Amino acid sequence: MNTGTKMIGICGVNLFNQQPIKFIQALQKESQKHNYCIATFCCSADNSNLNNADITCNKQLVELIRHVYFRGMIIFADTIKNPSLIKLIMDICVEKKIPVFCIEGELDGAYHMNFDNLSGFEALVRHVVEYHGCRKVDILAGPEEDFFSKQRVNLYKKVLTENNIPIEPERIKYGDFSEIFTRKAVQEISNTPLSMPEAIVCINDDIAITACDELQNVGISIPDDLIVTGFGGTQHGQHFIPALSSCQPDFESASRFILEEIIQFHNHQTRKPFDCPIPYIPLINQSCGCKTISLHNLNHIVSTSYKNCSDSAWYNITMNQLVTTNYRNSDIMQLADMLLEHAHSWNDHFRFSFVKASLLHSYEVPDGLTDMVTLLDIGEEKYQKPGKILALKDLIDYINSKINNDILIITILCSDNTVYGYNIDGHKEIDEQKMLQCKYFTFFLSYCLNTILYNNINKELTTDLINTNLEISTMALQDSMTGLYNRQGFYKAIEPLLDMEFNLGKLLYIFSIDMNKLKYINDTYGHADGDYAITTLGHAIQNVTGDLAISARFGGDEFVVAIISERENAYTATDFSETLKGCIALTNGLAEKPYPVEASVGMICLPITRNMNLENMIAIADKAMYKMKKKSRK
Ligand code: GH3
Ligand code: MG
Repeated sequence: MNTGTKMIGICGVNLFNQQPIKFIQALQKESQKHNYCIATFCCSADNSNLNNADITCNKQLVELIRHVYFRGMIIFADTIKNPSLIKLIMDICVEKKIPVFCIEGELDGAYHMNFDNLSGFEALVRHVVEYHGCRKVDILAGPEEDFFSKQRVNLYKKVLTENNIPIEPERIKYGDFSEIFTRKAVQEISNTPLSMPEAIVCINDDIAITACDELQNVGISIPDDLIVTGFGGTQHGQHFIPALSSCQPDFESASRFILEEIIQFHNHQTRKPFDCPIPYIPLINQSCGCKTISLHNLNHIVSTSYKNCSDSAWYNITMNQLVTTNYRNSDIMQLADMLLEHAHSWNDHFRFSFVKASLLHSYEVPDGLTDMVTLLDIGEEKYQKPGKILALKDLIDYINSKINNDILIITILCSDNTVYGYNIDGHKEIDEQKMLQCKYFTFFLSYCLNTILYNNINKELTTDLINTNLEISTMALQDSMTGLYNRQGFYKAIEPLLDMEFNLGKLLYIFSIDMNKLKYINDTYGHADGDYAITTLGHAIQNVTGDLAISARFGGDEFVVAIISERENAYTATDFSETLKGCIALTNGLAEKPYPVEASVGMICLPITRNMNLENMIAIADKAMYKMKKKSRK
C-alpha cells in the first residue's frame, strides 16, 4: 500500500449540500498547507432505516476505506441516519487506528465537534446593539416552545439588558419558519410606525431574506432605514442584495484543529479525543451597513450562475443523449468506448469510473467487492484506454499516482441494492457545481450499467424463449417415439412441395405401411416390446427412404411415406416391402427377440397436379396395404 500520499477521509450523506461543501473547502485549504489530500465518501441518502438498498450500497462504499491508508477520518454523523453504517465506518477506523472527528454527534472514541451557534448569535446581536448603537431591536424567532428559539431569545434579552435596553415583549415575534409568518410579522412591524425598530435580527437567513423583501416592498430601505441580520451564512443570503450580515460556522479554525490533531497523532503524540465545538462567527456584510452594496459583486454572481446553468444544461443534454444511445446496448466495454468518445465533456478534471471486473464476462453482479476494471480513466486532456484491471487495494494508489494534492469525490455506482462499482472524481478544488455534477454523473452511469445488465438478462431470456418455441413446434410436428413426422408434420412437409411449380408433372409415390400383429406382441411380451417393435419399424422406414422421402407415423403402428420422383415405376410396394424387411433384419438386438417385426405395404403413384387429393391417395394405398396383409396372413 502506498503510504506516500497523506490522505484524510470524509464520510457523510448529502455532502453535496452547502454547509458540508464549505467545510470541505476549508479543510482542503488547510490540508494543502501540510501536503495532505482529501477523499470524500459521498454516501447516498439513507432517510429510512428500512431501506436496505441504501445500506447495502453505502456499506460497500465505505468498505473501500479499509483499502486506503488514511491519516484521519471525519464523519458527518448527523447526516447519516443509519446507525449500522456509522458503526461500520467507526469499526474500520478503530481497526486502522486513526483519529476520528465526529461532526455533530456522539461517537465513542472520536473527537466531538458540535456546532456552537449560540456564541455567534450573541456576537451578532452585540454587533447590532453595541457597534451600530441600535436600541429598538426586534427579533423574528422560531416557534415559542422550540428549544433553539428559546435559547436565542434569551441571548437577545441578555445583550439588551447588559446594554440597559428595556425588553419590550412585542418586539419578540414567535412563529414558524414559514414565509407567510415572516411576511405577516414584518407587515405588523411596518404598520406600527411609532415602534418602528432600528434593526431586526432574524433566526435564519431565509427569514431575513423574506423580511428584507417585504420591507423593501413598502419602501423601507435596508440598511439605510433599518438593519436586518440573518443567521447561517447561506449562499442565498450572501448573493442577496443587500448581502446579509449573518453568522457562519468557523470552518477554518475547525479545519486547523483537525489538521493539528492529525499531525500530532502521526508524530506519535497521541492524545485522547476530546470535545472541540465549532463556533459560529459573525459574517459582517451589507445588510447592517458595514459593507457597501456593490454592483461589481452582483455582476460576478450573475455571470457565474449563468455559466453554471448553461454548463449544467449542456452536461445533462450529453448524458441524456448517451442514455438514449445506450438503450439497447448489452456490452459494458461499448459503454466505456462511448464514454471515452465524450471525454471532452468531462475531462476538465480527473474522472475514474470502475466496475467489478467480472461484469466484463457475466451480467451476474457479485455481492462483495472484487477486482475492478476501468470504464473511464481521464483527466487534464489525457485519457487511458478502458479495461485496466485493478485490485481493490490498488485503486486509490492508482489514482494518487496520477494526481497530486487533489480532492477526491467517491460515489458508488449502483441500482437498488446491486453495487456495480465506484466513480471517483478528482478536483484541484471543489464547489457546489462540481459536487452536483459528480452526483449527476454517478446517477447517469449507474443507470447505463443497469440498462446493460438488464439487456443481457433479456437477451438470455429471449434466446431461451426462442429455443423453447422451436422445441414446442418440433414436438407438435414430430413423433417422439420414432423421430419421424407425425400426421400433422407430414401434411405440413408435403403440401408446400406439391404446391411448387417445379414439381408439377412429377410423380408422387404414397406408401401405406402397417405392422403385422402388433397386438400379439403387446399381449404376449408387453407394451414395452410393442414400442420396441414400432421404433424398429420406424427406423427401418427412415433408413430405406432416407432424406428423399417424407416419412411419418400416422398413429399406432401405421406409417405413411411420400416420395416425389421423375421416374415412372421407380418403386413398387413389393420392392419396398423387401427392402424394408432387409433393413429390419439389420436392427441390432432384434435377433434376440422371440418375435419378428414385419409390416405390410401398399402403394399408389400419381402425377402431381394442382389440388391433388392426398387423403384419397392415402386411402387407396391403405387398401392396397390391407390386400398385402391379407395375403401375408394366409
Ligand atoms: P394387424 O396385423 O392386422 O395389423 O394387427 P395388429 O395386431 O397389428 O393390430 P392393428 O394394426 O389393428 O392395431 C394396432 C394395435 O397396436 C392397436 C393398439 O393396441 C396397438 N398400439 C397402438 N399404438 C401403440 C403404441 O404406441 N405402442 C404399443 N405398444 N402399442 C400400440
Ligand atoms: Mg397392425
